[in-house]
Amino acid sequence: MSHPKTVQDYIRTIPDFPHAGILFRDVTTLFQDARGFRMAVDQLLSPYVGARIDMVAGLEARGFILGGAVAHQLSKGFVPIRKKGKLPAKTIEQDYALEYGRATVEIHDDAVEPGQKVLIVDDLLATGGTAEAGIRLIERLGAEVVGCAFVIDLPDLGGRARLEAMGVPVHAICSYE
Ligand code: IMP
Repeated sequence: MSHPKTVQDYIRTIPDFPHAGILFRDVTTLFQDARGFRMAVDQLLSPYVGARIDMVAGLEARGFILGGAVAHQLSKGFVPIRKKGKLPAKTIEQDYALEYGRATVEIHDDAVEPGQKVLIVDDLLATGGTAEAGIRLIERLGAEVVGCAFVIDLPDLGGRARLEAMGVPVHAICSYE
């Protein structure tokens, strides 16, 4: 008897993208499969069913696809955390380090209210720099990040430890050593 496919079975690995030596974990093959996408969304949100969550925040860009589906399923609102220059109204911004150089993400300054409990969603956790910047934005608006949920964790890159050191629990569906 063949085993049912897991979420990880739908993820494709592309060598040397975007640079030589990088193994890119491609979730487009997960998203395009109806069963795979439903399984991924269900497993992403399962720890939070019945928990107090007021808002779901997604990290650009694959976090919008996953976070939108999670927010809909939990019957919560969705807010985007975007790369600098994309959001139309008043924003606050947060700088963070990339492997080479720096990047900036933004959130509308009225996206969440003080005291709200926010779940952050993205496709993949590597060094945790992107998620940390997202956490800082939410916290600067006076809200609390009660969890970060990812499809994929790359534990060797230390992101989970970094976010947990900030007091934010991490949930990931699968990992690549
Ligand atoms: P970090 O900030 O180092 O944790 O990198 C995570 C961010 O980079 C997330 O927004 C991911 O979408 C993106 N990312 C890094 N590597 C990959 C990959 O192999 N596949 C998909 N996204 C990736």
